[in-house]
Amino acid sequence: MGMGRVLAGSVSEVVMKAMALWVAMALVGCGAESLAGDGVVPARKDAIEKTDAQWKAELSAEEYRILRGKGTEPAFTGKYWQNKEAGTYHCAACGLDLFSSETKFRSGTGWPSYTQPIAVDRVAEAVDGVLGMRRTEILCNRCGGHLGHVFPDGPPPTGLRYCVNGNALDFQPKSAK
Ligand code: FE
Repeated sequence: MGMGRVLAGSVSEVVMKAMALWVAMALVGCGAESLAGDGVVPARKDAIEKTDAQWKAELSAEEYRILRGKGTEPAFTGKYWQNKEAGTYHCAACGLDLFSSETKFRSGTGWPSYTQPIAVDRVAEAVDGVLGMRRTEILCNRCGGHLGHVFPDGPPPTGLRYCVNGNALDFQPKSAK
């Protein structure tokens, strides 16, 4: 009985690890291990803090799942990965302008990808150890909404790839300004 329990315990642990890896590959898909970012982005004076209930009431279910729940949209299914229009990509939760079409590039990943944010105070970074993978999470620096991850395998001029969930963004075409 005792032995059985120990065995059951270790087996389920292995299964859990395998499942976690599989989930990571399936959901994350955004790329390999990240070394980018030191997490030092200055906090904004206009930081927005709302309760979970407030966010849930304001955002769509999909926006809430990604921005507040750190979710990921499946590749090639979200907004903007194919968008080539000139304009600005804003946080879908608080409206902060995060990325410009000028730094958007074709990554082939199925997620909108940029070489850099509009300015250093737009996007915060955090080490994401979820599922045993060491990656750098990116968040809206005003409202703390989860955006995606940044990886060190991007094109010039930064060599970085900001891999963002399109459903966490709102695009404003240049012509509309
Ligand atoms: Fe925001």
